[in-house]
Amino acid sequence: MLELVFPLVCPGCGGRGAPLCPHCAGRLRPPVGAAPPEEVDSWCAPFAYEGAGRELVARVKYRNVRAVVPWLASAMAAEAREHGLVDGVTVTWAPTTPARRRARGFDPAELLARAVARRLRVRCPGLLDRLPGPPQTGLAAAARRRGPAFVARRRAPARVLVVDDIATTGATLTAAATTLRAAGAAYVAGVTAARTPPPR
Ligand SMILES: [Zn+2]
Repeated sequence: MLELVFPLVCPGCGGRGAPLCPHCAGRLRPPVGAAPPEEVDSWCAPFAYEGAGRELVARVKYRNVRAVVPWLASAMAAEAREHGLVDGVTVTWAPTTPARRRARGFDPAELLARAVARRLRVRCPGLLDRLPGPPQTGLAAAARRRGPAFVARRRAPARVLVVDDIATTGATLTAAATTLRAAGAAYVAGVTAARTPPPR
């Protein structure tokens, strides 16, 4: 029932509008500029992780409201193009653990990656597996900075654009990029739907 109702209600103001009403869409802000995390050549995100932007990403991540995915993916693809991150790239995603994927029934990063790749008209193979471990959300700062552990499924293409839903410390992208480089990638960029301000 919630899934039937959610897409019609704007997460910014509770009024009508899917996935955001025009007023709240106009108030979304880009993230604070920040240097890419280690091992990542370049990164971008269309939205700051705050307000209605935060709620939109939460709908993908926690509530399985897939109507939001095309909207976010269009913004991510446009942002990646604008930042020059798309030349000759293969798109992939920073996967969640198999256990969480089973529990949720889907991987939000994969949904976004496939939708971004369609918009960029590039391939989107799964290149990484995530080793078991706690979710990054809820970890203490030090553990977050270490990031999750990934293994490569196969040899990586030379140029890879990694998609994830949120970047906080950038540790997940760093871990993904490190693994992709070890598997043969020479260029690794990242695009996320939203990004928090850099830690002080
Ligand atoms: Zn609104």
